Amino acid sequence: MALIDCPACGKKISDKAQLCSHCNFAVGSASSEDIARKTALSKYLQAQKIQNQSMVAMLLFVGGFGFMYWGDADQEDWQFKIAFALSVLGFVWYIVNRVRLIFVKKSS
Ligand SMILES: [Zn+2]
Repeated sequence: MALIDCPACGKKISDKAQLCSHCNFAVGSASSEDIARKTALSKYLQAQKIQNQSMVAMLLFVGGFGFMYWGDADQEDWQFKIAFALSVLGFVWYIVNRVRLIFVKKSS
């Protein structure tokens, strides 16, 4: 028994399985065309999800940065510290998502 990637959700399943145990995709009875279509769709959805996440990350960064810049909180204030943490988090998250997107696109 070997493990393969489910063409629909990308999780590991047995190559003997007729149905994916994660998403119930009928691996056994799917034609190669079905599988190709499902794979393309799940890649697309995954890329879309990452793009949405990088939008949120960007907003976090801009919001946090904007607050630090234009808000009148002092550097010692907890509001300022939260804004700083959010902008750093947003920035890092954004970079991570860009890298993930490159990998998703590369593997298609
Ligand atoms: Zn699946």
